Amino acid sequence: MSDSTTKVRPSGQTVIGPDKDRFLSHDNPFEDMMARFDHAAELLGLDSGLYKVLRMPEKQIIVSVPIQLDNGEVEVFTGYRVLYNTSRGPAKGGIRFDLKVTLDEVKALAAWMTWKCAVVNIPFGGAKGAVVCDPTVLSLSELERITRRYTAALIDTFGPESDIPAPDVNTNERVMAWIMDTYSMHTRHAVTAVVTGKPVEMGGSLGRREATGRGCMIVTREALNHLKMPLKGTRVAVQGFGNVGSVAAELMAQEGMSIVAVSDNSSAIVNTKGVNVEAALAWIKEHRYLKGFPGGEEIPGNDLLTLDCDVLVPAAVENVITPHNAPSIKAKVICEGANGPTTAGADSILDDKGVFVIPDILANAGGVTVSYFEWVQDRGGYFWDEPTVNERLGRILRTSFQDVLSLSQRHAVNMRTAAYMLSIERVAAVHRLRGMYA
Ligand code: GLU
Repeated sequence: MSDSTTKVRPSGQTVIGPDKDRFLSHDNPFEDMMARFDHAAELLGLDSGLYKVLRMPEKQIIVSVPIQLDNGEVEVFTGYRVLYNTSRGPAKGGIRFDLKVTLDEVKALAAWMTWKCAVVNIPFGGAKGAVVCDPTVLSLSELERITRRYTAALIDTFGPESDIPAPDVNTNERVMAWIMDTYSMHTRHAVTAVVTGKPVEMGGSLGRREATGRGCMIVTREALNHLKMPLKGTRVAVQGFGNVGSVAAELMAQEGMSIVAVSDNSSAIVNTKGVNVEAALAWIKEHRYLKGFPGGEEIPGNDLLTLDCDVLVPAAVENVITPHNAPSIKAKVICEGANGPTTAGADSILDDKGVFVIPDILANAGGVTVSYFEWVQDRGGYFWDEPTVNERLGRILRTSFQDVLSLSQRHAVNMRTAAYMLSIERVAAVHRLRGMYA
């Protein structure tokens, strides 16, 4: 089966939807991560033993997830969990449901979680999980059975002291509640701290849902300040209108920035006078997708990235800024809301153009930072009010931004290389102190 809207993977699975070409990309996120890692490790003069250790994930788990579908048939899905590095604390990282996800991608995402937690200096290692499935064609009860069976298969890995999942692409509070319940049924008592991004009613943290988008706004504000660009009227284009992009757009608009373009899987909308973010959110609530939103003009999705604007926020998926479109990017600042939106090959093109890139492991670290707060609150059994969460988040992100910025100035490298240097050195320092167990 193959036509203009449907492609068949080499494995025989069918890929449907607007980003159907993504898996045909030759960009391997793990190799991209490694290219940046190698560069930073070389600049740090990392010794060859530690270099070898940090280049490998600690653990890669592949599980079969058999469930009965609503029609009575049995289907077996593939699940992954990669623990990249746990030297600084329990493994931490989200779980995504995605038809196109590969083990290499999960490895890259787990490594990014390791560096991300180290950049913001929270006491976690890095992990990532995934189930290869298309959530848009599965019912809620099928998704619940997948989640519970995946959790059961990984019951020895998960735990508040060992490996703590969170939401990621296509997973949410409800999925986290199922994970917490399944885990708690196995341990025979409620274990709230096994998962973050839960509903507030059952031990979630206030401010967690907005945390990643809020973090994007905070580091963008820091960047504009550093570049002596005004906040008011700064034109922002946001790719992706999910939990990250929509909140980032909303909060940036509240800061006086002008959101000149937004997009989701279905459509991209441009309005040079400023998109009304609240109206766009209301439209999506009613129609599920942005398509048809009357508050601007529709443009081809890819054109959003090269639009005339000051700040670009890629907050959707990996590998969207490539050597192919990087030369045409007009933004002066890129805030990477998504994980891995820029391929390694595009980095030097953006550098040559003088684009100030706030790298993903710093730009989207607000989510895991408030996950850390959630875990602390669960373990302490004492919950904070939202202003406290937001104030502590702001403090951590502003400090992290300044740490990365001063390292980048000291070594005359870009922000991405500086963020990798800072985090690799923090992880390496713990390895040196702990020594090698044999
Ligand atoms: N999935 C989010 C990320 O990529 C959050 C992870 C977490 O909170 O553990 O950063």
